[in-house]
Amino acid sequence: MTQPAIIAHFINGQSLAPKGARTGPVFNPATGEQTGAVLLASAATVAEAVAAAKAAFPGWAATPPLRRARVLNRFLRILEDRAEELAHCITREHGKVLSDAMGEVTRGIEVVEFATGAPTLLKSEMTENVGTRVDSHSLRQPLGVVAGITPFNFPAMVPMWMFPVALAAGNCFVLKPSERDPSSALLLARWLTEAGLPQGVFNVVNGDKEAVDALLTHPDIQAVSFVGSTPIARYIYETATRNGKRCQALGGAKNHMIIMPDADMDQAVDALMGAGYGSAGERCMAISVAVPVGEKTADILIEKLAPKVRALKVGPGVDPSSEMGPLVTKQHFDKVKGYIDSGEAEGASLVVDGRGLKLQGYEGGYFLGGTLFDHVKPDMRIYKEEIFGPVLSVVRAKSYDEAAGLINAHEYGNGTAIFTRDGDAAREFATSIQVGMVGINVPIPVPMAFHSFGGWKASLFGDHHMHGMEGIRFYTRLKTITSRWPTGIRAGAEFVMPTMK
Ligand code: NAD
Repeated sequence: MTQPAIIAHFINGQSLAPKGARTGPVFNPATGEQTGAVLLASAATVAEAVAAAKAAFPGWAATPPLRRARVLNRFLRILEDRAEELAHCITREHGKVLSDAMGEVTRGIEVVEFATGAPTLLKSEMTENVGTRVDSHSLRQPLGVVAGITPFNFPAMVPMWMFPVALAAGNCFVLKPSERDPSSALLLARWLTEAGLPQGVFNVVNGDKEAVDALLTHPDIQAVSFVGSTPIARYIYETATRNGKRCQALGGAKNHMIIMPDADMDQAVDALMGAGYGSAGERCMAISVAVPVGEKTADILIEKLAPKVRALKVGPGVDPSSEMGPLVTKQHFDKVKGYIDSGEAEGASLVVDGRGLKLQGYEGGYFLGGTLFDHVKPDMRIYKEEIFGPVLSVVRAKSYDEAAGLINAHEYGNGTAIFTRDGDAAREFATSIQVGMVGINVPIPVPMAFHSFGGWKASLFGDHHMHGMEGIRFYTRLKTITSRWPTGIRAGAEFVMPTMK
């Protein structure tokens, strides 16, 4: 048996593997084989990364935005040329199907494209003559060393929500990717260096809670961006802000899709298939609850949906005919399976059961079939909690108000959608629903890079969403300068509050 490859850190422009470090296993979820051993950083290793970033900061912050943008442009070209290599890296450790991994890479690339606009994005405001011969202008200056802590489900895209914008704004970055699929982050680090990014501007420390805590308490970290589950997001936000850091912490989700009686049912069913089962439901914008309005709508929905869920082609991500890959780890597989057991025990109708799926040649993989529950009630665990697997719950509602009320009462508020032909209902939904990202006949309304991504309620702690102008605002500090040049006019000492005369 071959030894699993060591997955090291990337600090100050090079790979770093301190001797005697703890390691964690990385698996290929399609086979269950351990493919790597990722180093888990100590506080000392984190301090080394932060020190490298701090040393690089003055030079990078003073680099004109156009030159920073040129580095990002070269990085963009590398990403476009090697998108497939990155997608294979994602699939190997995460398990998602290759076409989906390519989609993830594309959405990440779009943020890099946005960030190449640095000279325009950082342009300031100026007012001539705020007073007689007195001018004011404002600057957006970088914060210093900032950290990103990211989840397993988008090992390339979520880091790319953060660092292209942070770097464009002149910050230095320390990324702590998920220990379950860490290799994509290291590819990105090497490609940034190849694109001409100076040493120390972007660093990757691999690790678990020990590394995260070291980042959260390090005095030289100015801001923390986090994406992951809600309990950890809450902890990150509380710890980072208690330690004087700016923080945006995006958490979990339970996204509902309302299907109105006038919806195009075939379109709604196709949308639910992709949004419910794409990436095996391991997306924070996955639809996990369908809410048909009216018994007739619900019956038609189940009749059309169930055969499609049964026919889902589950297989390894590298097989082009697979529509859905395995879950990320055995532990997560057991957790999702446990939710199906619980839904059945609580009395929901199990229309399609994904348990017990066996794939020849992939017996060690973490494969679960698509699962569909009907008659789910709001007090059931499968409704209240985030499952993060290929399990779709149907909750039948009598009216639009009941359906919207369910969404507004839910703990999470990440994404939601309505399928309808009724403009009034759609407009009312968009205006009143208590959720951060809303789709009208769009099941996964993930904002483009030049807009911003973020949920409400327990899906986001902090004030800023990610990327777009919100990202620029998060990674910069505002400074306003008021200036007057000697003109021979002397007003003498003034002891009253300055006003415009
Ligand atoms: P997770 O919370 O387990 O881990 C996220 C990060 O936190 C990882 O880097 C991990 O190492 C670190 N971490 C884990 N436990 C920690 C602890 N006790 N102390 C400090 N750090 C810790 O999340 P995950 O399982 O990797 O990802 C799935 C979750 O992420 C889901 O809940 C999903 O909804 C959420 N997610 C949210 C968004 C969003 O935009 N809102 C996007 C993607 C994923």
